[in-house]
Amino acid sequence: MKYELILFDADGTLFDYDRAERRALEEACRQHGLEYNEQLLEQYRRINSALWRQLEEGLLTSAEIRVERFRSLLREIGSGASAPGLAEDYLSYLAEGSYLIDGAEEICRHLASNYRLAILTNGIQEVQTSRFQASPLVPYIDKLIISEEVGFSKPRPEIFEYAMDALDHRCRQTTMIVGDSLTSDMRGGINYGIATCWYNPNGRENDMGFEVDHEICSLDQLARIL
Ligand SMILES: [Mg+2]
Repeated sequence: MKYELILFDADGTLFDYDRAERRALEEACRQHGLEYNEQLLEQYRRINSALWRQLEEGLLTSAEIRVERFRSLLREIGSGASAPGLAEDYLSYLAEGSYLIDGAEEICRHLASNYRLAILTNGIQEVQTSRFQASPLVPYIDKLIISEEVGFSKPRPEIFEYAMDALDHRCRQTTMIVGDSLTSDMRGGINYGIATCWYNPNGRENDMGFEVDHEICSLDQLARIL
């Protein structure tokens, strides 16, 4: 099948979210007089990913996650710091964290001459927009579609439908999603009926009970599929 449109996930696929998150948490903690260390980062990540999984299931909104993750974290460490204040500072530092995954710029530049490229991300609007705008990917990406703006998150078909409409591309057979998440990107792509390419740099096992069409461990391998 000749693909025409490639939908990329942003975080963990094109953007190094771990690095942006670590820096933002460290800066926000400093701002609020909290001691930052690796254990705190791990605690925060555990709380945050549990909340994002609830978002994928439609149980929470990203607006609720913004403050709730810090409310839980501060409760766990027994701190009286302000959750809304910490959340706000964290987000503004996060919005400055535009770091790319190795090979992201090269593969987008390479593919942009033959394919339409777009980004489909579950995330907070101002954070994702600002990180994208500060990146060198801007000239290669037709559209940045953010779940918070659409009102639906991956893996829901509505966000895929919204993307296809926004890009004026009707043909699912010529569309592929590339992403690192089995629960949002791959499940979403399969449910919507487009091709799937799992970016799996750490060699994780697929225990989801469905098959993906392609699997890559580095972004340059996309050039071999396309
Ligand atoms: Mg991701």
